[in-house]
Amino acid sequence: MKFAAIIVAGGRGERVGGEIPKQYKPLAGKPVIGWSVEALRAAGAAEIVAVCAPEHADLCRNATAGLAKIVDGGPTRTASVRAGLAALEGDPEVILIHDAARPGLDGELIGALVGALESGAAAVAPALAVPDTLRRADAAGRIIEDVARDGLMRIQTPQAFRADVLRAAYGALSVDASMTDDIAVVRANGVEAKLIPGDAKLMKITYPEDIAMLERMLGGERVICVGNGVDAHRFGDGEFVTLCGVRIPHAKGLVGHSDADAGWHALVDAILGALGEGDIGAHFPPSDPQWKGADSERFLRHAAKLAESAGARIVHVDVTLLCERPKIGPHREAMRVRTAQVLGIPLSRVSVKATTTERMGFLGREEGLAAQVTATVERPA
Ligand code: MG
Repeated sequence: MKFAAIIVAGGRGERVGGEIPKQYKPLAGKPVIGWSVEALRAAGAAEIVAVCAPEHADLCRNATAGLAKIVDGGPTRTASVRAGLAALEGDPEVILIHDAARPGLDGELIGALVGALESGAAAVAPALAVPDTLRRADAAGRIIEDVARDGLMRIQTPQAFRADVLRAAYGALSVDASMTDDIAVVRANGVEAKLIPGDAKLMKITYPEDIAMLERMLGGERVICVGNGVDAHRFGDGEFVTLCGVRIPHAKGLVGHSDADAGWHALVDAILGALGEGDIGAHFPPSDPQWKGADSERFLRHAAKLAESAGARIVHVDVTLLCERPKIGPHREAMRVRTAQVLGIPLSRVSVKATTTERMGFLGREEGLAAQVTATVERPA
């Protein structure tokens, strides 16, 4: 049967975090949505429409490598599917509707869905049984009741439909209706739907750690890389120093082209080192006037974004500040909090500590201060 596919990619993915929505993040060498597009093409889809948020059209176009038609989505998933249906140009007998955040799609499952329709079903979805005990609870975590799990199924996508059945169901649905999936739409129109065995690797990316789990399932190798960064700045006139984003009153200031935050400069270099991305000077040349007096938060955000774009996860950072004065101890926790905030990682994965050089050398003479940082990063091999 001739089939077309609609991939719903409208979500903004707040729970996964980061600046790139989850469906466009790299996963084992290609964007999340790219996995589904390639699987559908390889299985013989005559036409693929990807429905995305209008502001992500370029991201979506790049991630689907010209293999899908890009269409603006609506305010709800149901509205987005409607937009996808309207954009289909051919006259397919079968329409598959798939969530972009489920990259573990393969030809075998697509074949099973289309096969079920060929055997007479009008609507079919992959589903998995629920292995865990189920209980209903309130927002405070108090158990309200036990829920029998017999017969309960977790419904996945793609969901496959006879095109006439799907179009009729959407035609009968009120324009502002919002359903969580398309089986619900056809059932609301009195259509009987069938379930076939789903696939664990069709899990939906919901939380940040899901990307690494799927990467292992889909065969991508990940490695742990440790980067190292060192920086020093000279003391000069001033009334405060900025270290790890925290302003500390001091009898001297730090001299530098930017805000001279040696702690974050060394941290940026450590992250760049783990990514194999050169050094801070290559990304923010001191000769460029736009970085004069710059807040180093910009540099650190840039490093975090590079890591995200590379599909990497910053596992842990360890900052050591070397100076006689100012005393770091009273500001240590504030530095950890600021660093964790900017990197978007838990506080438990940020260490800030300090030492002196027992009055030896340029640090001992208080000509300046220095920082040394290691960053541990998990990333695609
Ligand atoms: Mg520096």
